[in-house]
Amino acid sequence: MSAGTPPLSGPPKPQAKGLNCPKCGAAIVLRSFGQAETVVCASCHSILDAKDPNLAILQQFEAITRDVKPLIPLGTRGKLRDTDYEVIGFQRRSTQVDGITYYWHEYVLFNPYKGIRYLSEYNGHWNDISICKTLPTADGGGANYLGETYKHFQSADANTDFVLGEFPWQVRVGEKAAVTDYVHPPRVLSHQRLRHVGRVRRICRFSAGAHGRVRHAREKRASPP
Ligand SMILES: [Zn+2]
Repeated sequence: MSAGTPPLSGPPKPQAKGLNCPKCGAAIVLRSFGQAETVVCASCHSILDAKDPNLAILQQFEAITRDVKPLIPLGTRGKLRDTDYEVIGFQRRSTQVDGITYYWHEYVLFNPYKGIRYLSEYNGHWNDISICKTLPTADGGGANYLGETYKHFQSADANTDFVLGEFPWQVRVGEKAAVTDYVHPPRVLSHQRLRHVGRVRRICRFSAGAHGRVRHAREKRASPP
């Protein structure tokens, strides 16, 4: 991302009154014009309900991974595909393949007109991720999206073990997602089913550029998402 100028006008600004973490009192910044479901206190790492004026505490987690630092700090603005985005959230995720744990980072990007987009980074390899606009069709061996056929690559579980900033869903540390990746080089179609506290969230993500995990993980048994 290169330095860019933020849009001068947009939807109404978020409320001006100061928000503070109910746990530790630190100032909480909301950057996404109310699109966030959860916001994480940067000071005590409480996960707070961004839709609640009192920022009710949803989860507290021990930040045993304080050394996890976003390569792009929250609040950074830059241009991606000719659009200005601001980094509003960051998470570290991991997966286990053949007994080895692989970690990667995902950034939540926000533009008031374009909405949410994501960047993922694995060992310096970046991917541009957007949410599918229509639902792909899938069978046991592949998926079809916008007329293109994607071959099943792997199915694995992904774990979220560190979060910071804002997320457009009710994120939790310990959140597990069943991920199925399909490839049509250089693009990856990724289906995720998130499970936590009885909630199931299905998302389909479209990634331009090979996904980092794809390069080192072996193909696993084919299974429909
Ligand atoms: Zn706090």
